[in-house]
Amino acid sequence: MATHHTKMLIIGSGPAGYSAAIYGARAMLEPIVVQGLQPGGQLTITTDVENYPGYREVVQGPWLMEEMKAQAEHVGTRMMWDTIVSVDLEGGAPFKAIGDSGDEYIGETLVICTGAQAKWLGAPGEQELGGKGVSACATCDGFFYRGKKVAVIGGGNTAVEEALYLTNHSDDVTLIHRRDELRAEKILQDRLMKSPKISTLWNKTVKSFEAGEDGALHHLVLEDTETGETSKLEVDGAFVAIGHAPATELFKGKLAMDESGYLDVEPGTPKTAIPGVFAAGDVTDHVYRQAVTAAGMGCMAALDGERFLAAREDAEEAVSEAAE
Ligand code: NDP
Repeated sequence: MATHHTKMLIIGSGPAGYSAAIYGARAMLEPIVVQGLQPGGQLTITTDVENYPGYREVVQGPWLMEEMKAQAEHVGTRMMWDTIVSVDLEGGAPFKAIGDSGDEYIGETLVICTGAQAKWLGAPGEQELGGKGVSACATCDGFFYRGKKVAVIGGGNTAVEEALYLTNHSDDVTLIHRRDELRAEKILQDRLMKSPKISTLWNKTVKSFEAGEDGALHHLVLEDTETGETSKLEVDGAFVAIGHAPATELFKGKLAMDESGYLDVEPGTPKTAIPGVFAAGDVTDHVYRQAVTAAGMGCMAALDGERFLAAREDAEEAVSEAAE
């Protein structure tokens, strides 16, 4: 068991965490990134990425994350294979976190980049066909279904937005919802109803995702929640959009969060209510949820962390000068 001190402790290793690390390291803050259970974050479970700026060809999600990690290390970040299991934010900076390894991490600033995870249905075939027709992100993968038949599962804002987004690529989008009424905001519902490219299947749940001979998704098996009848829907792509869960368990009772568990920050900034504690990426953002926006927020958090430390140093100097 060891104690690690740093000017910037970063929890989480997706685009937000690595970007915060790159900026923090270049500001000589010698950041530590505690990588967590899924080093590299959500992009490590996607395949093709073609919306991250800087690459004219398609790149692979896991490769992109390895590059970000290598870049962060190259400029001086210390990477830890550990998962934070508790944090102590009381009394302000420095902040203390304990890892699964038993190691203790002390940060003069804390940048929380623990991300979020898409919720899955848990139906047979769903995980096996991930990347082969089943996805949880239309903005990321919709393009690959140009001119094909797609379905979106869910009835909230995300599901309706994803269905609308998919009409940019496909003329045949089916929204499948388990009830006969959507949870999505009225304005989105109106847009959905007006779209000639979207049809809606009410009171249906997906029982399984079935592959064709080529090993890719071929059809969904649906069950009617009222009659119990099953039916088949042939689709090339299915987008599960039943919500995301931010990884904020660690911060319950310690930091303010909204009713879905996303960390509250001062609007337009990564600042939480505790000076020196910042949140960046999907852990605080349920609207954009993109690698590039998370990276941008990680950068903002590091810059604000640097400013926080500089302001504290100035204040300490002023106090000691006054005492002389
Ligand atoms: P929500 O929790 O709002 O909606 C989830 C949807 O999935 C619900 O319709 C729910 O059905 C359905 N669902 C949940 N579990 C299952 C299941 N096991 N089987 C079938 N269906 C299921 O999640 P969203 O991701 O849509 O939104 C999360 C938050 O982000 C919300 O606060 C939302 O308003 C916000 N958001 C805002 C946006 C914006 O402002 N533009 C865009 C996207 C999200 P049921 O209705 O029956 O419970």
